[in-house]
Amino acid sequence: MTKGKINVTTENIFPIIKKFLYSDHEIFLRELISNAVDATQKLKTLASVGEFKGEMGDLTIRVDVNKKKKTLTVSDAGIGMTAEEVEKYINQIAFSSAEDFLEKYKTDNNAIIGHFGLGFYSSFMVSDKVDIKTLSWMEDAKPMAWSCDGSPEYSLEETKKKGRGTSITLHLDDDSKEFLEESKINELLEKYCKFLPVEIAFGKKKEWKDGKEEETDELNIINETKPLWTLPPSEAKEEDYAAFYRKLYPVGEDPLFNIHLNVDYPFTLTGILYFPRIKNNIEIQKNKIQLYSNQVFVTDSVEDIVPEFLTLLHGVLDSPDIPLNVSRSYLQSDSNVKKISSHITKKVADRLEEIFKSDREQFEQKWDDLKLFIEYGMLSDEKFHERAEKFVLLKNVDGKYFTLEEYEALIKENQTDKNKSLVYLYTTDMEEQFSYIEAAKAKGYDVLLMDGQLSTHFVNHLEPKLKESRFARVDSEIVDKLIDKDEVRESKLSSNQQSDLTPVFQSQLPGQEMNYLVSYEALSEGDNPVMITQSEFMRRMKDMQEMSGQASMYGNFPDSYNLVVNSNHPLVSKVAEGCEKKLGKKLEELRGEKKGHSEEQQLLEKAKEGKKDEEVPQSEKDQMEEVNKKLNELEDKRIEMLKKYGKDQKLVKQLIDLALLANNQLKGEALAAFVKRSVELIK
Ligand code: ADP
Repeated sequence: MTKGKINVTTENIFPIIKKFLYSDHEIFLRELISNAVDATQKLKTLASVGEFKGEMGDLTIRVDVNKKKKTLTVSDAGIGMTAEEVEKYINQIAFSSAEDFLEKYKTDNNAIIGHFGLGFYSSFMVSDKVDIKTLSWMEDAKPMAWSCDGSPEYSLEETKKKGRGTSITLHLDDDSKEFLEESKINELLEKYCKFLPVEIAFGKKKEWKDGKEEETDELNIINETKPLWTLPPSEAKEEDYAAFYRKLYPVGEDPLFNIHLNVDYPFTLTGILYFPRIKNNIEIQKNKIQLYSNQVFVTDSVEDIVPEFLTLLHGVLDSPDIPLNVSRSYLQSDSNVKKISSHITKKVADRLEEIFKSDREQFEQKWDDLKLFIEYGMLSDEKFHERAEKFVLLKNVDGKYFTLEEYEALIKENQTDKNKSLVYLYTTDMEEQFSYIEAAKAKGYDVLLMDGQLSTHFVNHLEPKLKESRFARVDSEIVDKLIDKDEVRESKLSSNQQSDLTPVFQSQLPGQEMNYLVSYEALSEGDNPVMITQSEFMRRMKDMQEMSGQASMYGNFPDSYNLVVNSNHPLVSKVAEGCEKKLGKKLEELRGEKKGHSEEQQLLEKAKEGKKDEEVPQSEKDQMEEVNKKLNELEDKRIEMLKKYGKDQKLVKQLIDLALLANNQLKGEALAAFVKRSVELIK
């Protein structure tokens, strides 16, 4: 028997191994089974090239748990190791790779995505002692037993072992009892090993018999050795893809489409990606892709390998060319990773274009579930934007779909304004903006539906990319102004009447008066008497601020609306007439008085012209101040009088409430008061 000391620089490397990877202890099983798979694959290779001429026999890898002895054993019938190989691979090489690994891990705790590299020595994370029994495939090889209790000392001696291969037994430590539980081992095998290329048996298959679960004689094979992505795409059928999806994600909706990736130059990449149905819930859809390396599960966080929007996809990627034990920042700059990432982006765009071209009907049917993904991709990835321009669809309020090109052609004639700007009208809520949509449609305009989670961003993103075009929400202006075509209509209200009506309407506005700007438009009699609009610019600024979740240094943007009064509507004329009847005389007097003072003001202004401030006599300055004061007083008086009058005008209140109602702003108490008042008015 040989006794030896593992060549270490630090005596306490085992405690470090144990402590360091606390949360990842479970990976030891994957490492041991991967080694067993490698040893088996190597044997197959030797057999295929004729170097190994013996019987291969049963190559199944076995995982066994012995609760009494507190051991877990992984056995294979692979190439095994000779005494020299144990010396070399286990005592020297494996150990030094464990050291390397820890060295890397020390500097960057989250550095390793796959945690590959620790290999065999990860078994010491969970064991007091590890035994290896192995018999090499080579002729005349002697079976060897290696044992190490976690100190750097080990023993190596000849032993008895019948079959070829290696069996590794872990004597689990007190903190690792969970790995004696069948359910725990099943969970780990399911997570890491379910697609490994060599059969792995854990216990016997169970069957329900007479209400009891009984073991059968059949081995319980936990993995599928030829998962769908390893087949050539030509051999896989639609139903295979559907079934495979179910295997990966037993719950949830069916996906929309899939892409089978199969590249072997200049890098190796296989995999199947699925487009899930994405409703308005981007975050919960992310990070479902599983990354494999030669069929060994590595991770399900692929965000450093593919562009962010692709993390919305589901499925598997398998590439031995993605370095698995390097830091995340290194990964992003790795040239293979970059190539793989742009290849996937291109494939995804190609697949979408292909479906769009070959089956537009299907594409449209699935568009609503696909939209968020495509918009996200276009927003975040310029390359993807360029590719997607061909197939991204716009949907209008009638449920029709258009490509960008088709839509431009559709609206070109009727929706170009006097500045030659093409106006894309849209709504973010068909219910809330119903009356505005109707008004736009009545003009023969088309209205787009932009009600997705990313729509606001998407509008901002698309707008500058379209030539001489702008987007306007249907309620951002009254319909005649949405697409300004320079049509002039006579107003029935004089400018004096308009200026008198402003305080009347202001007197009944809800909230802070400054939030509403009263203006007049000479619309037709059939249009609404009073309307509320919100400027596209102000609304977008506010939306952006809300989305970014931060108030600016000036606090939040106020809500600012326009109260647009239709100066040609009979009801508005009625309000104006009522006001004139009641206050006409007084207003006339005030105007007369004001006129006198205004004339005086003008004279004073004229006298001042061309003079420096110190050249103006004090008496004139005083006179000026007096006149201005008088004018202000008169104006205040006028406004106060009109407001006082307006406050009691039920018709005014009713008109404003109707406008608020059409804009979905009439709520709670104000709505109840409106209903009550309406009933009274009908009586
Ligand atoms: P890695 O697998 O990354 O090379 P490990 O520490 O897991 O590192 O293993 C070191 C070496 O020990 C392997 O490369 C292999 O030569 C040998 N080895 C480990 N397990 C087995 C096994 N089950 N059968 C044969 N050789 C093995």
